[in-house]
Amino acid sequence: MRMRCPHCKAAAHVRTSTQVTDLTRKGIFVCSNYECGHTFSVISTVEHTISPSATPDSSIALPLSSHTRRALLQHQLEHMPKADYTPTRMPLSQTLDLFETDPHPG
Ligand SMILES: [Zn+2]
Repeated sequence: MRMRCPHCKAAAHVRTSTQVTDLTRKGIFVCSNYECGHTFSVISTVEHTISPSATPDSSIALPLSSHTRRALLQHQLEHMPKADYTPTRMPLSQTLDLFETDPHPG
């Protein structure tokens, strides 16, 4: 992620960042203009969903983009047949059906 220095408007680069919550991350940025040298912190926040997750976390409630065809999406989720697939990047406990009850809540 890149930002412009709020003082001199030169490019600023992230030096380190830490996850604060599931929805926020804090980064430390340094201005690339050595005559300025401003170092500053930035909080990045997840704002809204553009495309829904296939493996949503029930504790995350984000606004859904207005371009989403909600009624059609809901209809398809309720009526499309299952296709066998074995996830390779997530534990099986996180890959339940969208509306299935989580056996390991919290
Ligand atoms: Zn600067």
